[in-house]
Amino acid sequence: MIAARLLLAAMLLPASVAAQNAASAGAAQGPVNPLWHEQKVRNYLPHMTWPEVQDLRTRTDMVIIPIAAMEQHSLHLPIGTDFLNGLERAKLVAQKTDVLVAPILLPGNSPYHMEFAGTITLSSQTIQQVYFEAAQSLMKHGFRRFLLLNSHGGNQVITRYIADRINQETEGIAVELGDAAAPFLTRAPQTGDPTGRVFDRHGGVGETSTSLYMTPNLVNLAAARRAALTMPEHLQKMLPEVVAGDPTATLVFLAEGLKATSTGKHTSTREMSDTGTWGLRDPREATADVGRRETENFVQAAVKFIERWKQLRPMHR
Ligand SMILES: [Zn+2]
Repeated sequence: MIAARLLLAAMLLPASVAAQNAASAGAAQGPVNPLWHEQKVRNYLPHMTWPEVQDLRTRTDMVIIPIAAMEQHSLHLPIGTDFLNGLERAKLVAQKTDVLVAPILLPGNSPYHMEFAGTITLSSQTIQQVYFEAAQSLMKHGFRRFLLLNSHGGNQVITRYIADRINQETEGIAVELGDAAAPFLTRAPQTGDPTGRVFDRHGGVGETSTSLYMTPNLVNLAAARRAALTMPEHLQKMLPEVVAGDPTATLVFLAEGLKATSTGKHTSTREMSDTGTWGLRDPREATADVGRRETENFVQAAVKFIERWKQLRPMHR
């Protein structure tokens, strides 16, 4: 079984990774913690030794830093959905182009999910300071270029602020990888809704599809159901224009939607949804295949951006 798994890993991974895995498997003599199932992942900081980090630095000055969240994801997805999906995505990118992956925090800014059990939220001040100081640490080790990969809508502005602080205050250079990769995406992948006319956001079909591909054994599709939404009436009325892609309607809809109960806007997830999903599609329509296509589209676009950046600007020595 283990041999078969190693063989499979050797077939799927680049030679150097397979060699590393074989080496670490060889080191495992004696009893092993029964909960330990992770394989060593190339360029993934928590799995690396310091000489491996030093060696990687001779090949690249780039780091992907996922910007994560720990928040309710409806009845069927894990609290760590955004953390896990962002991190796995970053690891996939780093298998195709030589960059470091350095996760820093699990929680992000999620005050509007707090009425659902398990959500952890940090203030935007705390979050930006932690990531900024982490980037400064990585700069001490010679890394200079930062690809911030945000996986949670509520962190968008914070992520841009972290990038701007790095650019304005340090020798580092930072971009948001989602923004950077956007021009390299192939046309928007089909989400299984051929009309594209049904509202589908947090914990909906799109996100569930991604999770079915990224972390399938953490998805409990049997517990999923269509949410009953109770949006404020004026937001409900904007919905058709939002779904049709009207930029102005989307801007003002999102400025008001998904805000903490304390704001009095009545747009926290608990105030708008009975399950925690913010969407009108049934999450059970999700498929791993849609998740795979969406993920692969992003990964190839991110790799193209990174390769272009390497061309445009030589590595810091
Ligand atoms: Zn999410």
